[in-house]
Amino acid sequence: MKTHHRLVLSLLLGICAGLTLHPYAQLEWLQNLNRYLLEPIGQLFLRLIFMVVVPMVMSGLILGVFQLSNHQGLAKVSQRTLFFTLLASSASVIIGVGLVNLAQPGIGLEIAQINADSSGIAKIQTNAAQAKPIVQSLLEIIPKNPFTAASQALDGEMLALMFFSLAFGAALANSQSHKTSRWVELLEECYAACLLVVDTAMKLAPAAVFALVFQSTFKFGYQILFSLGFYVLIVVLGLFLQQTLVYSLLLKVFTRIKPLAFFRQCRDIYLYAFATASSNATLPRSLELAEQQLNIRPEIARFVLTIGSTANQNGTALFEGITVLFLAQVYGVDLSLGQQVQVVMMSILAGIGTAGVPGGSLPLIMILTQQVGIPAEGMGLILGVDRFLDMCRTTLNVSGDLVIAALVNEQDRDS
Ligand code: ASP
Repeated sequence: MKTHHRLVLSLLLGICAGLTLHPYAQLEWLQNLNRYLLEPIGQLFLRLIFMVVVPMVMSGLILGVFQLSNHQGLAKVSQRTLFFTLLASSASVIIGVGLVNLAQPGIGLEIAQINADSSGIAKIQTNAAQAKPIVQSLLEIIPKNPFTAASQALDGEMLALMFFSLAFGAALANSQSHKTSRWVELLEECYAACLLVVDTAMKLAPAAVFALVFQSTFKFGYQILFSLGFYVLIVVLGLFLQQTLVYSLLLKVFTRIKPLAFFRQCRDIYLYAFATASSNATLPRSLELAEQQLNIRPEIARFVLTIGSTANQNGTALFEGITVLFLAQVYGVDLSLGQQVQVVMMSILAGIGTAGVPGGSLPLIMILTQQVGIPAEGMGLILGVDRFLDMCRTTLNVSGDLVIAALVNEQDRDS
């Protein structure tokens, strides 16, 4: 059986078992089974992924920025790529955050009330209420000490770590030293090793999905399922809007290309991205299409698409924004405007630092949720539907890369 089939099956089994046993949630032996067997399985999986988050974010972001700003002779192409990447990512996150605020898919579960006295939810709400003034939060994005930021990244310092990585990547790219390649090699090795650990952890995913989903439905009953369906719908709607509105608008404003004809030419690539759920696995096919059918200059296609397969992930950024706010609603964490702005900024950066592999954004989602005080267990809610959402967001990620390659190509031709 393929992994994603196994995950769906685990999700369904977890839901069924949890719902069936929910009426008996007070029985002691059931609570013990949950506490001593299922909870540890879920935690084991989560901790394995947590373990590589800091090195992965640092090496991924430094490399992404280094590549985007380094290529001498391609300075203009780099700048344009960076500009369009930020523009498209910002638009996608704003769409996501707007939709989730309008539709509020996580409201109504009243998990906070069900659980008000037990668990850490009361504490989470207090933490969220103690949000700092926005000027202070913005200032603290610049870390006084990057090592402190790294050691406390999982306790709210992630944005500061990301800022340091961006600054470091840019500084490396601008360095005159011929020894920078050593840094790059080291960071590439570090990134690859982290991916391997994530890969290994994913082998536990079916058991972890069962355990995590079981815990949610066992504790909260069927109510949780309605919200989940609504959440999937909101993510898919957001992706659709980004593809049809934002990409069409960008192509119309910055090029002479007809959006519909362009999308039609990319159809096969969309299918491939959907099936593999991996931007990296789709890259060779996108390169072929860009050079042979979309008539994009090879050097531009190679530069923009290769970097974009990791650094430009609009679908992922949109998904991350929606997911964090959805989980905040589910857990009754009321996010201030400042915190929502923080989520938007972090989602944009997370889109740049995410690996173009199936489930590449999962570690970053955990960080984002922790940053605003949502328990990591919230992941259990979304893991079961993640493969489907991954297929959808990867399609948008790849589509975004092709659109940006076309935009940069056209601008280059005109200048
Ligand atoms: N699977 C996505 C990609 O390859 C990354 C993610 O959002 O997990 O583009």
